[in-house]
Amino acid sequence: MSNCCGGSKKIDKKAMCPECQGEYKLVLLDTLLHQLASPHNQSIKEQSFYFCSSPECNIVYFGSAGDCYNVEQVRSPVGQKQTVASRLICYCFDISVQAASDDLNKNGASEIKEFVKAQTQAKRCACEIRNPSGKCCLVDFPN
Ligand SMILES: [Zn+2]
Repeated sequence: MSNCCGGSKKIDKKAMCPECQGEYKLVLLDTLLHQLASPHNQSIKEQSFYFCSSPECNIVYFGSAGDCYNVEQVRSPVGQKQTVASRLICYCFDISVQAASDDLNKNGASEIKEFVKAQTQAKRCACEIRNPSGKCCLVDFPN
């Protein structure tokens, strides 16, 4: 199949991780620029990148052209790749999974989650770059 105009190249919203074969979502280039440690952030080749959230897999980002970045090539530990309770769930406000579930158990309703929700609604968060997934953390909260 030829693509004479070269224009509108279709970008898949999801792709399969070459390591664990799971299907994962597209992330912005901005997310990689922020998350990758130097010098890896200086040589990102143009392609679509996806975030693998499997704790069993070493790959953090994989690209449509085959470039991959693993847990050793990012700036800080990726909570989604860890299983300890102290792993981060919210990267904008440094909230751990432990803190979120303690709060839920103690108060019956999650005050921390409400706080994060309020900040998100007020657009006072930066999930696109702070969360390795590039997505809002609210979906990951226990409830
Ligand atoms: Zn994977």
